[in-house]
Amino acid sequence: MKKSRLLVSLIVFVLAGCTDSPEPVAKSSVEEPSEKAEILEPVELEVAEKVLDQNEAFDAFKQEFLMLLWELDPSRAVLAGYYKHDDQLLVPNGELRARKRGFYVNELLALKKFDANQLTKTNASDLAIIESELRARLWYIDEYRSFEWNPAQYNPAGAFGVILNTDYKPLPERLMVINRRLANVPDYYQAAIKTIKSPTLEHLDLALQQGAGVVNMFETLIPAKVNEADLSEQQQAELSTNLAGAVTATKGYLSWLKAKRAQLSELSSARNFRLGAELYEQKFKHDIESSYTAEGLYQRALTAKNKLHDDMIRITGEIWEKYFPETPRPAQDLVAVKMLIDKLSEKHIGRDQFVDEIKRQIPIIQQYVDENNLLDSDPSRPLVVRLTPEYQRGIAGASINAPGPYDATANTYYNVSPLDGYTDEQAESYLREYNHWILQILNIHEAVPGHYTQLMHANKSPSKIKSIFANGAMIEGWAVYSERMMLEEGYADDEPEMWLMYSKWNLRVVVNAILDYSVHVLGMQREQALDLLINEAFQQQTEAEGKWRRVTVSQVQLTSYFSGYSEIYAYREELKQLLGEAFDLKEFHNLFLSYGNAPVPVIKKLMTPELEQKKANLEVPLEQMLLRESAGKTGENSGEPGPKILIDQSEEVVD
Ligand code: ZN
Ligand code: ZN
Repeated sequence: MKKSRLLVSLIVFVLAGCTDSPEPVAKSSVEEPSEKAEILEPVELEVAEKVLDQNEAFDAFKQEFLMLLWELDPSRAVLAGYYKHDDQLLVPNGELRARKRGFYVNELLALKKFDANQLTKTNASDLAIIESELRARLWYIDEYRSFEWNPAQYNPAGAFGVILNTDYKPLPERLMVINRRLANVPDYYQAAIKTIKSPTLEHLDLALQQGAGVVNMFETLIPAKVNEADLSEQQQAELSTNLAGAVTATKGYLSWLKAKRAQLSELSSARNFRLGAELYEQKFKHDIESSYTAEGLYQRALTAKNKLHDDMIRITGEIWEKYFPETPRPAQDLVAVKMLIDKLSEKHIGRDQFVDEIKRQIPIIQQYVDENNLLDSDPSRPLVVRLTPEYQRGIAGASINAPGPYDATANTYYNVSPLDGYTDEQAESYLREYNHWILQILNIHEAVPGHYTQLMHANKSPSKIKSIFANGAMIEGWAVYSERMMLEEGYADDEPEMWLMYSKWNLRVVVNAILDYSVHVLGMQREQALDLLINEAFQQQTEAEGKWRRVTVSQVQLTSYFSGYSEIYAYREELKQLLGEAFDLKEFHNLFLSYGNAPVPVIKKLMTPELEQKKANLEVPLEQMLLRESAGKTGENSGEPGPKILIDQSEEVVD
């Protein structure tokens, strides 16, 4: 949950049509690596040198920008794997917000001296990403103001947990780091109490629920490590004083929240958790960075839902008799579809085969991608399927644990949780959900050519900026796009059963988007929401209830899968039109992924001119452009540990 918030809440946005947004990278000698400069004419040489200056200056800017950014956000820095200020817990008061605000405004002004036309592909998109990130952060402070209404955002436990459990320096040193952070916990909660004005009941309840985990961190988890470590008596005494202070402060905050809750319920004066049309549109713009408006995406989702239903009804008609030779098809279409889905779900592997089956499938899917020329793979960076490490287990599921850009040669892991802890009934229900067909789609999504392949490509042109401010809609959108692309390219031989199951799976993504907009903008009530999820998207009661809870405490995030997917898909179709015969699917995929985890509109803006140039039959082949970019990139590596990217950690698969 924490990690996905990092991925998603840091997402960036470029104001459409904004005058200082970057232009496409010009196609000329400017992208040549410097060693080729001697073959250029004198005038061009001058241009090339100037260009190099801009890129050098921009690299320096990025270094300093991140340094200052982490100084103002040491906890988020720790979560991203940057430990320079690990001992600081900043007090979230108005003064801190003012300092951050000033920094964002200054950096936006500083960005104006760079001309995207003169930057490399990597830098031009980094520029767009930083600008959007800064605009988003200003909007969060000035307009969104969740610090006044979301008590759950005051939760210091995450960074404490990372420091406690990550072996980046010896345990005694980490405990003294923790000790210094602990000293600020009382002030931290005092600032929270002063800042919270009108909380929603839903976020209040979330804060109370998560508060138990915070108390557990200070009361149990940290003391357990203190007992393990070799500390002096004085150090131990300091730690226990500060731990006691932190426990008291946390419990004080929770009592205050309970009293606030009672008072608000009595007066019926709590803030509505629904965001409303205006804030929702804005948040969608900043978090998702889409070419669509939120309202436009909602309309697309409605159309997509109807299309999926039509397909499912058609397939059900086609194969009904194969599965129900004796039973007449029910008159109600969606009831018939559900009956068939239930029947097909019986085809699944045994509970003790779950992990082995995933291991067996990955090479087969990879081979299909290679043999059908769908996109490049890299056998030197293999995917390792493993049991989810104990500390990451919780809910059964699957997730991808990919290396950051600066340890790009490290392994990528596909974590699979075994079904050991399940009763027979729970295991059966889980295996029916991840049945013969859905399990293959899950592997496509998580591994090949979904998350694993995408992040492997992203790491080929390492950009700290794109890694830290990774666009969740692009990352999830790609994985969802890759599912459909595989089926369209003949994986599973157009089997109707596979298309039916795929449609059910895809329906979840589509309905997430419909639900989010309907609840936050159109005022959809709980009963209607459950009806949508259960009767129109074929979800189980418990899954649907969990989704309702999630939509009351998050906004926009549920739309990211569908928005990224529909935009990538639409872009591909657009390029097919534009390029005609010259369109090549593999080239499209490789080039699209070469821009890293940037928002889809940023990729489109940089990529379309490259492809148009191809159509104009200029002499440089696309593959060579890719090579040039990686040869020309300037070293950003400052030796800091790169942020780790963790995708789908339990949340999505269970969602
Ligand atoms: Zn069964
Ligand atoms: Zn995913």
